[in-house]
Amino acid sequence: MSFSVKIAKSRGMCAGVERAIQTVKNAILKFPQKNVYVLHEVVHNKHVVDDLRSEGAHFVDSLEEVPDNSVLIFSAHGVGISTFEAAKARDLTIVDATCPVVSVIHKKMNKAGLKGMDAVVIGHKGHQEVVGTIGQYTGDASKVHIIISADDVSLLNIDGDNAMFATQTTLSIDETRLTVEALKKKYPNIQGPKADDTCRATQVRQNAVKELARSCDLVLIAGSANSSNSNRLKEVALNEGALAYLIDDSSQIEISWFNNVTTVGLSAGASAPQYVVDEIVDYLKQNGASSVEEVGSDLKEKSFPLPKEVHL
Ligand code: SF4
Repeated sequence: MSFSVKIAKSRGMCAGVERAIQTVKNAILKFPQKNVYVLHEVVHNKHVVDDLRSEGAHFVDSLEEVPDNSVLIFSAHGVGISTFEAAKARDLTIVDATCPVVSVIHKKMNKAGLKGMDAVVIGHKGHQEVVGTIGQYTGDASKVHIIISADDVSLLNIDGDNAMFATQTTLSIDETRLTVEALKKKYPNIQGPKADDTCRATQVRQNAVKELARSCDLVLIAGSANSSNSNRLKEVALNEGALAYLIDDSSQIEISWFNNVTTVGLSAGASAPQYVVDEIVDYLKQNGASSVEEVGSDLKEKSFPLPKEVHL
């Protein structure tokens, strides 16, 4: 068995994820006398969460699980206003690691609620980011509508002259474009971004995988099963006609995947650490990779400043 390996240069951790991880690390250092709790997984990656847990962070799914006098960190996906207010009423040191890109969307949702506008959120129901985004709308909850596809637009019945839309940041660029087009066609006066709210990190990684998959038979995406952006990368590769698998690390690879494969592509979701990519490359070298090269361009992303509460 012999195959070549191409690795997308634009891959892996985005600025929002790096900021959230560093926020937890700094909180552990800055508040040694307190327990550090994170509401939900700080980012959707098993290795990142395991690493931070081993450094002392606790991950919980509800505020009730956080004892008083602890540090409470909100994850990169953000939370709704009621969660924020409930935490503020407690004896907690609150640190908000919501990605700044998501915070911008939160402000728009909040404004829409105050103005009594209909708010259409294009995203996956139940995903932590969507829960946080709709939780920013403080008005009549029946005016918030979660949709995902262009077909869903036909089910909407809103006042298009007093409505706005926002999208989850990690959606498929191609699918979201169709949904937004259908929305703007039905409601020409709806307010919202020119295209959508998918972030630059999402766009850059999807474009890189699209390019990569065109010259590969098989594409491996490093990322966890609950990572939205990683799942979208796998779909992009599948849509380009390659076989594609989403894996936490090399332990999930099946050797039969490489049968009749001449070129393997590799990329990583926005929450996957580089050491996982390195570990997968080592596995590939030991199991038939005859060459390994990086392809595409490395589009640099600017970093985000840390929350002031965790400045050291
Ligand atoms: S994927 Fe985009 S929105 Fe999500 S944390 Fe990264 S930069 Fe922020």
